[in-house]
Amino acid sequence: MNQRKLGRRDFLRMSAASSVALGGCAPLSQSTTTDFKKIAIEEAFVTQDIADEWDKILAAGAPGEPGFRKMGESILADSPGTRLIHQRLIDLGAGRIADMDATDIDMQVISITSPGVQVFEPELGRDLAQDANDVLSRAVQEHPDRFAGLAALAPQIPEAAALELERSINTLGLKGALINSHTKGEYLDDRKYWPIFEAANALKVPIYLHPRTPGNGMIEPYLDYGLYFAGWGFAEETSLHALRLIMSGVFDEFPDLKIILGHMGEGIPFYLQRIDNRYLLQVRIGAVDEMAKLPSEYFKDHFVITTSGVAQESSLQLSIDELGAERIFFAADYPYESVEEMVGSINNANLSDQDKAQIFHSNSERLFGLSV
Ligand code: MN
Repeated sequence: MNQRKLGRRDFLRMSAASSVALGGCAPLSQSTTTDFKKIAIEEAFVTQDIADEWDKILAAGAPGEPGFRKMGESILADSPGTRLIHQRLIDLGAGRIADMDATDIDMQVISITSPGVQVFEPELGRDLAQDANDVLSRAVQEHPDRFAGLAALAPQIPEAAALELERSINTLGLKGALINSHTKGEYLDDRKYWPIFEAANALKVPIYLHPRTPGNGMIEPYLDYGLYFAGWGFAEETSLHALRLIMSGVFDEFPDLKIILGHMGEGIPFYLQRIDNRYLLQVRIGAVDEMAKLPSEYFKDHFVITTSGVAQESSLQLSIDELGAERIFFAADYPYESVEEMVGSINNANLSDQDKAQIFHSNSERLFGLSV
């Protein structure tokens, strides 16, 4: 899988390497080693049972799930590519570990792929989440030095989801949970979902807020041009969800609650100053209630972000400037992205060894209590 044509990125990499070799202008702070332990924390799997139930929903036209229906018609349509992705999603053993070895990944923190169990009727979602967590836990127990896991939860029955989170941490040994943004068009700022946050807060485990297609109330103008998908709609949906959580006051209620956002914080680090500035205007005119802290302060106190799917150094540097390297975590988004490109984007970035070590592994070791 390493046999491929050289692209522009390879050329730039070679140019940078030869410039260093010739005593060129590499800054003193930039590291030269690429020998970091690497923990990737947004790495996907699915069970065959969940995939089969998705197929049933898609065959029925996915009523009430226009974004999922659109994915079924396009990006999920049967092809050699989707069959390979499916095979990689299902594999929690030798095939996955071989891919990790080939791409220099020491550990994956594995979670259910989008849209997970959130498109199902409540009881089915609850049962399939429990089963997926059992499957993932067994894989982690078989390969404790290579895999860790985040629980799938079905917010459709909030109290059951909270209990499942507790079981996943205390009995199954998982390290947190992952929720694929909206559930039937609803967001987790709705207080009926707060038992999930109460449990996460008490257990002191993070919740990964992962994208899916935009919620039913916003998806219409995203459906054509492919904008509902990962290039834009996913980030719009998930950043909105994150800001709804901040504005809802959930972090005042649960001070130890930590949320992980992928895809370089779904764009939020770029906008922090403007979000604060216009929030303050709305407070001044009485349009929104004043919160104990600024939106950017809640973001820095309660969110961390990952590099999944973003190989743009300027975005990485901006995120470090705004948040600090201690809030940036490496993720590859296996099996959807090029892991080599994701690893290379950190290795080749103009960062100190200390920053790279934090991003590649020590932040994750601290957040999840991992010993690799
Ligand atoms: Mn992902």
